Amino acid sequence: SSPIVDAAKAKLESAGVKYALASYVDMHGISKSKIVPLSHFAQMAAGSELFTGAALDGVPQQVNDEEVAAHPDLDSLAVLPWNKEIAWFASDLHLKGAPFEACSRGILKKVLQEATDLGYRFNLGIETEFFVLKDNPDGSFGPVSERDTLAKPCYDVRGFLDSYGYLDELVQAMDGLGWDVYSFDHEDANGQFETDFMYADGLTMADRFTFFRLMANELAHKRGWFTTFMAKPFGNRTGSGAHYNMSFADLETGENLFVDPSDPHGLKMSKLGYQFIAGVLKHAQAICAVIAPTVNSYKRLVRQGSMSGFTWAPVHVSYGSNNRTNMLRVPLAGGRVECRAVDMSCNPYLAAAMILAAGLEGIREGLDPGAPHAENMYLYSESELHDQGLSYLPRTLGEAVDAFEADPLAAQVMGPLMAKTFADFKRREWLDYHNSVSEWEIKRYLKFF
Ligand code: GLU
Ligand code: MG
Ligand code: MG
Repeated sequence: SSPIVDAAKAKLESAGVKYALASYVDMHGISKSKIVPLSHFAQMAAGSELFTGAALDGVPQQVNDEEVAAHPDLDSLAVLPWNKEIAWFASDLHLKGAPFEACSRGILKKVLQEATDLGYRFNLGIETEFFVLKDNPDGSFGPVSERDTLAKPCYDVRGFLDSYGYLDELVQAMDGLGWDVYSFDHEDANGQFETDFMYADGLTMADRFTFFRLMANELAHKRGWFTTFMAKPFGNRTGSGAHYNMSFADLETGENLFVDPSDPHGLKMSKLGYQFIAGVLKHAQAICAVIAPTVNSYKRLVRQGSMSGFTWAPVHVSYGSNNRTNMLRVPLAGGRVECRAVDMSCNPYLAAAMILAAGLEGIREGLDPGAPHAENMYLYSESELHDQGLSYLPRTLGEAVDAFEADPLAAQVMGPLMAKTFADFKRREWLDYHNSVSEWEIKRYLKFF
């Protein structure tokens, strides 16, 4: 085995680690792995961990197919902060010695390579919004603090203090992993919080997001609570976005290439940044199938419905300044693009791959997104939307899958087999929902006529 692997093993041993996970993700971006005693670390590092793809969602394999090998990325090490005997590594999947086409991480790596070839480093920061909840004896579920009932709980300090023990443990764990948390707060729904930490290169950030969901949930579980990352757990409250904050840095100099103080639109955004924006808008509908990938995701992408009035979630294919009604926002500080349509139920690798590929297309084709929208888009009537040429984001998972299937970008990013596997899976998910009859319908119609 190599000196690097030996050194890594020795370090883990002296830290008291007993087991290692070569973790890969299924189609949903959920961590999966076998557990390997440290005595077999060298073999694991060389790709000894095999699994049958047919056991996972979204892996186009049959039970009689060759097994897939997980190759851990040693740079991605995270010793579980809540169980220091276990080390976690993000892994790439290989089949018969070559990169496996259903590997989400591999799909992102391919698009990242395209950016690298053009001289760009893709920087990504993800804002993690999530709910910390508990099951109630009566079968309902709700916030862990009885006092967390305000109609406008956003930034509420008491709400934060009531959950201090949990949030402190989570934030300390994130910082212990070197993520550099710079703030956290109570979000706009009861039981909802947000943690914000330093951006990183796209791959590192996608690994961290995967680990974040695991960690936030485990820490809640220890207290008898749970976290949810579904996009919209409560119809009358805001949902959980996973805003993707993106910029390009020059590979050589590190300079942020999305900055231009002389921007005529006043957003301090460079031409390169505008081209990126235009590419993402061009493919917005198809991208939604991946960045808002569940039936429930589309209950978040609406104007109204929160107790405090607005949802802060985008509804239209649009971009603008410090305006939270746009799908793409250029915050006042400038230098980055925030995609607000992404939600916490996404597979972070596939989400980043789709958005980045669309942005790169905008750059290659020199696209122009037109003028930014500073208006409150929630207030537009249908005819105003029409006059402005503003189209809707998909309003259901079914619409999103239609757009995904119709857009060549999907197969270009994921490869034809994986794009089809994803679309088929999501189509079935949509039909399964569409063919069910909800409580709302029974209440409204059963005895109505
Ligand atoms: N929770 C909102 C969403 O669903 C976003 C709120 C914010 O702007 O931070 O996207
Ligand atoms: Mg937020
Ligand atoms: Mg944000």
